[in-house]
Amino acid sequence: MSALVQECRNCRSRLFPDRLFCPVCGGDSFSTVAVGQGTVEQTTALPDGSVLATLSIDGGLRVIARLTGSGAQPGQDVPLTNDPHAASGVTAFIPVPSNLNEDQP
Ligand SMILES: [Zn+2]
Repeated sequence: MSALVQECRNCRSRLFPDRLFCPVCGGDSFSTVAVGQGTVEQTTALPDGSVLATLSIDGGLRVIARLTGSGAQPGQDVPLTNDPHAASGVTAFIPVPSNLNEDQP
């Protein structure tokens, strides 16, 4: 299980949410890379019962994701997905807009 995030082809910075230009080098060519898991830094419970989390992933990138399942605590590693109907257990769902300014290889 993994989720896709944007990566600059010039400087390899990972970006979320997707950008039109890299804030590090100004590049405008991106690819998508799969990341398998993130570490929960903070969670927020919404009035409707859903839980949002800030997660850190390799390379220092932080993403905001909706947690499915229950019981995730800060410091816990959870699998990432772009599939809103992911399997059971604690999973972090990252919505990704379709092909924003991405060059397909
Ligand atoms: Zn860059």
